[in-house]
Amino acid sequence: MQDIQNVRVRFAPSPTGDPHVGVIRQALWTWLYAKKMNGKFILRIEDTDQTRYVEGAVDRIQNSLQWLGITWDEGPDIGGPYGPYFQSERKDLYKEAAEKLIENGFAYRCFATPDELREMRESQQAAKLPPKYDGRYRDYPKNDAEKRAESGEPYVIRFAMPQEGSTTFTDLLRGEITFENKELDDFVILKSDGFPTYHLAHVVDDTAMEISHVTRGEEWIPSTPRHVQLFNALGYKIPTWVHAPVILGPDGGKLSKRHGAKFVLEYAEEGYLSDALVNFLAITGWALDDHTEIFSRERLIEVFDLKDLSKNPSGFDQTKLEWMNGLYLREMEENDLVDIFVRRLERDLPAEIPRPIDWALVKELTPLVRERIKLLSELASLVGFFFTSDVPTPAAAEFLTKKWKDRSADAANALDSTSNILEPLPDWNADNIQQVMRNTAEKLEIRAGDFFSLTRIAVTGTRISPPLFESMEIIGQELCIDRIRQAANSLRNTPAS
Ligand code: GLU
Repeated sequence: MQDIQNVRVRFAPSPTGDPHVGVIRQALWTWLYAKKMNGKFILRIEDTDQTRYVEGAVDRIQNSLQWLGITWDEGPDIGGPYGPYFQSERKDLYKEAAEKLIENGFAYRCFATPDELREMRESQQAAKLPPKYDGRYRDYPKNDAEKRAESGEPYVIRFAMPQEGSTTFTDLLRGEITFENKELDDFVILKSDGFPTYHLAHVVDDTAMEISHVTRGEEWIPSTPRHVQLFNALGYKIPTWVHAPVILGPDGGKLSKRHGAKFVLEYAEEGYLSDALVNFLAITGWALDDHTEIFSRERLIEVFDLKDLSKNPSGFDQTKLEWMNGLYLREMEENDLVDIFVRRLERDLPAEIPRPIDWALVKELTPLVRERIKLLSELASLVGFFFTSDVPTPAAAEFLTKKWKDRSADAANALDSTSNILEPLPDWNADNIQQVMRNTAEKLEIRAGDFFSLTRIAVTGTRISPPLFESMEIIGQELCIDRIRQAANSLRNTPAS
């Protein structure tokens, strides 16, 4: 039994690129569990495969976690009592463990060259046998092996897997799992470059860092009997394994870029709220009951448990994510949302719009748009016209559609009527503006919708905007009238088509 008082869990990504949502979901679940149990969450960078190392990946991993609010108690940047937290800085520990295994007869040096191994595989294939290392150095005399090693000949260290019997372990979600030992070969634990394979690094580090629960993807299940053997051979205590299911794309294949799945920081870029993504990822593969979908971080920490993860793969429901993001936008406390909007506008509005962005103005327009957007990335184009005194009138062809098609002179006249009635309006507010404009439409015998659509384009420069009259109230009387006059003039100057 694990000591539940002492939960230490880790997220152990390989810096081979940007973290995708599957990996980050794993981090999130692990973090939630650490928080729930008052345990420690550790970030460890598994950079033992130097050929797959991608420059900048460690930063991107840390930034992704930070954006989602997943904080670590120990890690490469902040250190901690179990460091270092880069595997590449822990080489001595792996070497020591591998040598101890050789000493005790659990491992041996193998000098088979890559060519030799290829030939071995080819002849196995020709004989229709499954490819498997044939143990050719397993019984090689230890002294001879040592001499060859000392002379500088390259070698790997392999674990001598028991050839009979079976290995059983417990997975928190699936219960007991058993593998026949004869199906497993003498796998490499230390490579010729002195770096460990994942198998050895997992066992050494998760022991040294006193990890209580190893959470990782289910693709590691077939390797777990190897790990059990390693833990036992080294005399280490076995952790609790939790193998989480994969996320599937709509076609049933493992979720990937080709399904439109994104890297975490791309979701940030596109305008998702981190709270929404956290909520969405947490419930993709975990459920409290058959209906609750919305969880704050605090609530997740309260109710989440690793043992309740689904054993089955889950689909990635993009529509649900968008819906959830919209919901978070609508329900967020207004001032918090204003802060988020301001930050986004600082970033997205064209450079010619002066900075800093006016917080009070954003606060005024927030109620007009919070119901309308699903993504923050929609914001700047929707509200840009509030921030500039000069919105260019679109080309007549774009402007004049439906009733106004090919009727630029009539449209210009209608806009003149609008500016004429708005100019003397004593009390500039949305209700009054709407009232006088409706009256005018009636007098001119123009359908209100057709009449308003002209004004909308004149004032906002776009056909789709936040509610017109409220927007006009915020923009102010003088500027609205200016824009309407400008649009009327530009229409009068449009050559008749
Ligand atoms: N570095 C491994 C990977 O990225 C981590 C697996 C684990 O968490 O043990 O797949």
